[in-house]
Amino acid sequence: MTRTAPGSTPTVDDATAERLGAALRCVTISREDPAETDTSEFDRLTAHLEACFPLVHRHLQLERFGHARLYRWAGADPETPERVAAILLGHMDVVPVDDERGWTHPPFAGVVDDEFIWGRGAIDDKSRVMAILEAVESALAAGVQPSGTVYLAFGHDEEVFGLAGAGRMSARLRAAGVRAELLLDEGGVVTTGVAPGVGVPVATIMVGEKGFATIRLAVTAIGGHSSMPGRQTAVGRLARAVARLQDHPFPLRLTPVTLDMLTRLRSVMSEPRRTLLGLVGVAGPAVARVLAARPTTEALVRTTTAPTMIHGGVKPNVLPQRAEAFVNFRILPGDSVDDVLAHCRRVVRDEQVTVELVGTASEPSPDPAAGPLFDLIADLTREVVPDTAVTVGMVPGATDSRYYDDLAATRCNFAPIVLTAHDLERIHGTDERLSRANYARLITFNRRLIDRLAQPRVRE
Ligand SMILES: [Zn+2]
Repeated sequence: MTRTAPGSTPTVDDATAERLGAALRCVTISREDPAETDTSEFDRLTAHLEACFPLVHRHLQLERFGHARLYRWAGADPETPERVAAILLGHMDVVPVDDERGWTHPPFAGVVDDEFIWGRGAIDDKSRVMAILEAVESALAAGVQPSGTVYLAFGHDEEVFGLAGAGRMSARLRAAGVRAELLLDEGGVVTTGVAPGVGVPVATIMVGEKGFATIRLAVTAIGGHSSMPGRQTAVGRLARAVARLQDHPFPLRLTPVTLDMLTRLRSVMSEPRRTLLGLVGVAGPAVARVLAARPTTEALVRTTTAPTMIHGGVKPNVLPQRAEAFVNFRILPGDSVDDVLAHCRRVVRDEQVTVELVGTASEPSPDPAAGPLFDLIADLTREVVPDTAVTVGMVPGATDSRYYDDLAATRCNFAPIVLTAHDLERIHGTDERLSRANYARLITFNRRLIDRLAQPRVRE
């Protein structure tokens, strides 16, 4: 599976790369309306998994929730039959492709070349699902059995909020009284050239996530001819409400997890950031302002406000009868969905503009922090990506792991794959691909995790 020539970066052999390529050829796009999902593509992927990993499917118990798959790998230690070492998450669905024309290879062709495995899902998140299964298969082949039970939970609807997959699988684990030592899911990666003032690769092991809420603003009016509009039309009134929200962002705030992130990064930062960070105890507001200057780091220090859609009116010379806008918020721990709603009402302060929550919302992680097994994940990361600075972070979006938040002592959202800023744009974007070297890192990391976490012993 993975191999290393002396002095070179580990890579994966053709058969291993091809197994991922074949998974990428299954068009497992999840849709908000499940009726629009092509279930036959999920059936194809399922058949592929079962064909590729015979030992996994012989030795692990499998429970299906629709197309979601919950595997249970029983712990071997008779002294602690209840011990759950880990819940390893991944998702098998992908987002659709906007415009295929920009792609080097068609997004669902699963092309494998000497350097990359190409296609939608190569990073997010089929590589994770496949790497976990590769690692478990190889552990089984080597006679390794974990002492504590390990669950693998692969959702089929993460990209549309995960209710039918992660929602049901986590409920099953909760009902069974599962309390795991580690929860591991997608989120952070190792980046190069992304963190300002840091010259080494940075592994951001995320330990929680921001919340998510979308607010709809709507104005209705009588309509009529645009030659006699009165003082304000529905469009004008709505525009003013949107502008007020844009002009009144949530306050800047350094959360404990962001402080921890900066502290861990300080030693690898160049001046003057290093000195500034040394003052974070007394100069917190100044540090927050520096972070707020860039959109990527602003997300760390406030609940963000993003007006994303606006429409109203039917014709240039007709007064609109209705206008509406949608504003998406990503909620910092410490704020809540209710806080967002209250903020909108207070800032818009116009009784003729209705303000309501629409669609799925999720609260931020209650108290994100590096848990007891964080250092294990950090150590494994340094093993597969040497000379990496390791820090904590928060997932800016929502992942399946929010359903499992209360089921584990340590939560990590992370994959030890090395990406540039340009590579990050490929996720949900054009030309998503994973290098063979990164795929090898992901498999090795999962295999070593199984070996370490579960304190393996050799089966007789
Ligand atoms: Zn994902």
